[in-house]
Amino acid sequence: MALEHGAINLSQGFPDFPVSQALVELIHKNMLAGHNQYAPMAGAPALRKIIADVVHKTYQRPTNPETEITITAGGTEALFSTIAALVNPGDEVILFDPSYDSYDPSIRLNGGIPIHINLYPPDFRIDWKEVRSKITVRTRMIMVNTPHNPTGSVLYETDLKELEKLALEFGLIVLSDEVYERIIFDHTQHQSVLKYPALSAQCVAVFSFGKTFHATGWKVGYTVASERLTNEIRKAHQFITFSVNTPVQLALAEYMTNPENYLQLGKFYQQKRDFFLNLLSESSFQPLPCSGSYFQLVSYQSSKSDRDMAEWMTKEHKLAPIPVSVFYNDKTDNHLLRFCFAKSEDTLKKAGEILKRL
Ligand code: PMP
Repeated sequence: MALEHGAINLSQGFPDFPVSQALVELIHKNMLAGHNQYAPMAGAPALRKIIADVVHKTYQRPTNPETEITITAGGTEALFSTIAALVNPGDEVILFDPSYDSYDPSIRLNGGIPIHINLYPPDFRIDWKEVRSKITVRTRMIMVNTPHNPTGSVLYETDLKELEKLALEFGLIVLSDEVYERIIFDHTQHQSVLKYPALSAQCVAVFSFGKTFHATGWKVGYTVASERLTNEIRKAHQFITFSVNTPVQLALAEYMTNPENYLQLGKFYQQKRDFFLNLLSESSFQPLPCSGSYFQLVSYQSSKSDRDMAEWMTKEHKLAPIPVSVFYNDKTDNHLLRFCFAKSEDTLKKAGEILKRL
């Protein structure tokens, strides 16, 4: 609709500014050097090696690049291959709504039964007692996402401890979507499942270079999981994509050797969040807390449903948000809109002008 109506598109989650020129040149260099054929199924060894080093340094989890890391076609394939490998027909998978839109279909396509638990504004915290009450003999997996799309909320140490307790007690697999691991604000520490040794043994953590290097179109991500779980994931990955494009993997391996290329990301996006918040302060829209990701939720003063509100803004005012109800299986409407602030200041300013008038 944004395209159709010529609206500023703050709906989909992708940056509108360029990726690093150095990274583009590295890809070009690798293509010219003839690295254009299939990469190994599990991923280019050089990329797995540097990821293992960075995971160890960041989360203090010793990680074996040979047996515990698999490069995938983005975070979405990582999630899908994990579910395809580990969820059997009739297994229940607990997930929290609002949720990223691939979760539920990936579970159902593989014969699993999604068990949705709703989270509510303003802070979208998980009620772990409620989670316990939803666990049955058929529960196989819990999916979590921190920092969270679409809400910008994060999990805290207390959440991870509760998650660990349940996962160990009931022998559950935890699928942890951490594609926004580096986009976290206000000195909050990202709580990766990889930081918790007992929990980590039963987890698959999912990451995406699309988010970390502003290149959502390249579709390269990875999983980190124990050797036992990785063996299973690779059985699915082998016949879903087989392998991921070679020159991009080799370029990423080289680019990641400089920590400056990923350590600055939180600061970079915090500035954008604050820039957008400042614009919002001149409007009637109320921001909700945003601790991570590149999404800002806002509430609005109108009796319109969030869907009608988003359509009206897109058609009549040429600014496209996403209604948050679409991320709920039961379409719960809390009268919230999601804006993506991974945009240039110029785009955000234009959006701010429109928001001020509404
Ligand atoms: N998980 C979440 C929470 C996301 O927001 C996204 C991208 N929008 C993905 C996974 C998928 O990442 P990728 O683009 O690498 O497939």
